[in-house]
Amino acid sequence: AVAASAQQLVKSYGSGETRVVALDHVDVEIARGAFTAIMGPSGSGKSTLMHCLAGLDSVTGGRVWVGEQEITGLKDKKLTRLRRDRIGFIFQAFNLLPTLDALENITLPMDIAGRKPDKAWLENVIATVNLDGRLKHRPSELSGGQQQRVAVARALAAQPEIIFADEPTGNLDSRSGAEMLRFLRRSVDQLGQTIVMVTHDPVAAAYSDRVLYLADGRIVDEMHRPTAEAVL
Ligand code: ADP
Ligand code: ADP
Repeated sequence: AVAASAQQLVKSYGSGETRVVALDHVDVEIARGAFTAIMGPSGSGKSTLMHCLAGLDSVTGGRVWVGEQEITGLKDKKLTRLRRDRIGFIFQAFNLLPTLDALENITLPMDIAGRKPDKAWLENVIATVNLDGRLKHRPSELSGGQQQRVAVARALAAQPEIIFADEPTGNLDSRSGAEMLRFLRRSVDQLGQTIVMVTHDPVAAAYSDRVLYLADGRIVDEMHRPTAEAVL
């Protein structure tokens, strides 16, 4: 099954002399239950591709689907609701609310959406990211690594169809980064989560099932079951 896809996706910025083509007729299918990494040099279009697949950016041409639903052409309100209900995000900054404890931060997006978390699922997520015993702590009382796990749990809690992670290890030391990647890997293996991760780090990409390589706005190569050596 396909979690997200694009056909002949074009995204350009500006016009005339200053027009930049960030994505140049990209065809892609993101498999459900798989961990996909997007790699490529700076400026190759990684973030733009992720933003277009996640419905965060409008497209200039082509079509994009989340699951079976085409999102190109959706009005802002519907798109906002689709992101809220079906998509999870992990960014470089964890964006935790300082006044809420860990559990409240984890369930906040669902509270806002007026949804009740599935209790068994939530327990599973918290165990998966090793946060038992830390749920009553505020972010300031948690280590950086624990804060990052709260951000991962927050993305997983709502059981999104797909999680987009933009350089999730970008601001972490290598030990915390490796821990983050193990939790992402585990959420795929144990919870069946679908993850798309933008990274420029071959070590991070080696945790994925499939690597897509972008260059100048095109997918120029891909690799299945990568190893760090092969990615390098
Ligand atoms: P990457 O994530 O691979 O570094 P991006 O997707 O951020 O690449 O950018 C792809 C290209 O599009 C780059 O040339 C970048 O400068 C350009 N770009 C990205 N966002 C914008 C924007 N908001 N306005 C103008 N140009 C942009
Ligand atoms: P990356 O690490 O993906 O290259 P950047 O720091 O280049 O990230 O860009 C971060 C965000 O800033 C992008 O997602 C894009 O929306 C915006 N951006 C990137 N390049 C430009 C640009 N040339 N002009 C305006 N906005 C840009």
